[in-house]
Amino acid sequence: MNLRVHVATGLLQGVRQVLSPHFDARPAGVEPDLIVMHGISLPPGQFGGPWIDKLFSGNLPREGHPYFAEIFGMRVSTHLLVRRNGQLVQYVPFGKRAWHAGVSQYQGRDACNDFSIGIEMEGADEVAYEGAQYDGAGAAIRALLEAYPKLARDRIVGHSDVAPGRKTDPGPSFDWDALRIAIGG
Ligand SMILES: [Zn+2]
Repeated sequence: MNLRVHVATGLLQGVRQVLSPHFDARPAGVEPDLIVMHGISLPPGQFGGPWIDKLFSGNLPREGHPYFAEIFGMRVSTHLLVRRNGQLVQYVPFGKRAWHAGVSQYQGRDACNDFSIGIEMEGADEVAYEGAQYDGAGAAIRALLEAYPKLARDRIVGHSDVAPGRKTDPGPSFDWDALRIAIGG
């Protein structure tokens, strides 16, 4: 898979786009220099279905599942989702600030959303992620490294790294070596 970011729009070319209303501008002059990896499944532990798209689009139905009532009205998003089959979905242009990390800190800097790109892997902390997902994420990250010079292979962290004690994703099942190999180079 050879992907390219169209830098003027901040969109990954050839990728499904489900643009979210949950974003705003990055602080003036700030370019992304960190990638934050996440895990998500809706309802928790179940894969497939339209619910992640709906959450990030602000259309999650309160009645769809008991868990949805708990998170109903949450305004969150991410830049990219990698589905179980490796398919990518983009919700927010990379030049914009997606709302994925929440209260967070990296190397003494607060508010990682300001300077990061969020990638959600559809999965759960204790369930192995699929090989196709590492391939999909790796292809996306290669394109991001090409497009945004402040990003780097050693500036890719988990949500649990920037929000320790509050977040556990992408979890112990996430294979960081597999991601590094998929990114290549
Ligand atoms: Zn997360």
